[in-house]
Amino acid sequence: MKMLKKGRMEALDWKYVVECNGKGFESSRQPCFDTFEIDLNDIVGVYYMEEGSMKIKYGFFCCNCHCFTVVPTEHIPKEFFHDYDFPIVVVEKDLEMIERRILLSENDKKVSAKYSKYL
Ligand SMILES: [Zn+2]
Repeated sequence: MKMLKKGRMEALDWKYVVECNGKGFESSRQPCFDTFEIDLNDIVGVYYMEEGSMKIKYGFFCCNCHCFTVVPTEHIPKEFFHDYDFPIVVVEKDLEMIERRILLSENDKKVSAKYSKYL
């Protein structure tokens, strides 16, 4: 594949150095604690239910150990939330409740199926 033009997410040129610490959701997975430089294409929004309300955490899934690590929203450019169709992952046990509140695209369901097993 040959890239002809950079997409907007790359054009924003945001980079963030972060350690995979697995902090985000309780999980039996062991984080690798490797340090990564991530960009906006690595950020996903994970939707879950808490006390009857729908919540969202932003972060990334580690390419080594698959743990999810939260990236604090104050470190993410605000354009990301407004302008981008970022990937959505839904915590599996909350899928039915979330689907009643937001419309998930076929792609969201695919991404969720891939990653939710790591949560
Ligand atoms: Zn890791």
